[in-house]
Amino acid sequence: MPNAGKSNNSVTETLGTVHRRNVLGGIAGGLVASALPQLHTTASASPARHDMTPNPRDFIVVGGGVFGMWTAWTLQTSGHSVTLIDQWGVGNNLSSSGGETRLIRTEYLGNRLYTGLAWESLAKWKALSDRSSLPIFHEAGALYLYRHEAANITESLHLQAQMGIPTQRIELNDLVEKFPQFGYDDIQFGIYQPTMGALMARRSLHLLEREFLAAGGQVVQAKVLAPKSGASLDTVRTSDGQSFSADSYIFACGPWLPKVFPDVVGDRIKATRQEVFFFQPEHGVDMFDVSRMPAWVDAHEDDLHYGFPSIENRGFKIALDKHGVPADPDTMYRQVSRSGEDAVRAYLRVRFPALADRPLSESRVCQYENSASGNFLIDRHPEMENVILVGGGTGHGFKHGPAVGRYVSELALNTLEAPEPVFGYDQHAVY
Ligand SMILES: Cc1cc2nc3c(=O)[nH]c(=O)nc-3n(C[C@H](O)[C@H](O)[C@H](O)COP(=O)(O)OP(=O)(O)OC[C@H]3O[C@@H](n4cnc5c(N)ncnc54)[C@H](O)[C@@H]3O)c2cc1C
Repeated sequence: MPNAGKSNNSVTETLGTVHRRNVLGGIAGGLVASALPQLHTTASASPARHDMTPNPRDFIVVGGGVFGMWTAWTLQTSGHSVTLIDQWGVGNNLSSSGGETRLIRTEYLGNRLYTGLAWESLAKWKALSDRSSLPIFHEAGALYLYRHEAANITESLHLQAQMGIPTQRIELNDLVEKFPQFGYDDIQFGIYQPTMGALMARRSLHLLEREFLAAGGQVVQAKVLAPKSGASLDTVRTSDGQSFSADSYIFACGPWLPKVFPDVVGDRIKATRQEVFFFQPEHGVDMFDVSRMPAWVDAHEDDLHYGFPSIENRGFKIALDKHGVPADPDTMYRQVSRSGEDAVRAYLRVRFPALADRPLSESRVCQYENSASGNFLIDRHPEMENVILVGGGTGHGFKHGPAVGRYVSELALNTLEAPEPVFGYDQHAVY
């Protein structure tokens, strides 16, 4: 089990080539379970730690976003000892995994890797949702709107048919009838996935955290300092003077990964500022509710908008997927711009006219952590043999959390059959 101690030696306690737009374009400071929302796992279905693992090992996971949390959960519930450290706690509001909802889809324009990861993940998200007192997954469906035929749209349909993923092409006349909420002026057809939908982002991470704690995992709220270079890592130190040691370390620091490893990651991952808007539909109008419409992606080549119906009365959510200006996740201004709101309203006037003048009910500013290729970075540190780097979610990572957790765990345990070349450190260029 990983050890935690003050660096002054006073012992404290013992603790545990696809761009998104291209593809669719208890110690002091420790977070305790009682601080979490009263979300609970259905007792009978709750996964417990599997104590029969022949060679249990100690891990430290730095980062409690979707990648770090699923990795920590997977390792702990497999019988290993995991301490998860996050500077502001699991699913915090500054992280890329914070906020309300994320789209899950397997429509990746024929990309077999991400289609497969999303499909694997969907089953695990559904299982988590089944264990939850509140929904983690809303099976709203997902609709993609296309202006032109393209070979990769057809390939994607074939691939998903092969994989048994329910996916239908819907012609314009049928779209108008089935989903009257949309304006279809320049749209030719849609691809509809009835079993996809919306994941409840923050809620899901808090539930995973509770299950992780119940399985014996430890969560610490502290900021890990950038490790010094070397052939392996012995200890991580935190800004409040604690130190933690384990056999292996997994850094899933999202947009902060370049700050934790400035020399090794640096400009291989760059954060951009992204604005998200929620609009309140008119009183009595329920056509934008999750019971009536799917999550959607307007697959425009340059200005890809996507959004969600109103879920749990939060309002209709919409965002532009285009990469925003470069951003520092620590200092970025987190209020939306007037120009961003005006631009979204101009889009609504065309695609959802009934919402164009509705009140803004909520807004968020978040960051994408982009790799040059849009592929995730999941690989061993090029110098430190017991360190794994995980990042580059690039605006499409959330849905893949369960599969990434499985993949990173296998990599950490040396049981991964075939590493994905595109996740390799060598494949991630400075840009
Ligand atoms: C606006 C927006 C919309 C999105 N929409 C979708 C979508 O619809 N579907 C989808 O699949 N994906 C979507 N994504 C992408 C997805 O949310 C991200 O890819 C994913 O959440 C990244 O998770 P992560 O765990 O890598 O990083 P994060 O969630 O940022 O987690 C990293 C964690 O590391 C911690 N940390 C960092 N440095 C340190 C340190 N030194 N010490 C301790 N802790 C540290 C941070 O506090 C943070 O909690 C969207 C992203 C944004 C911003």
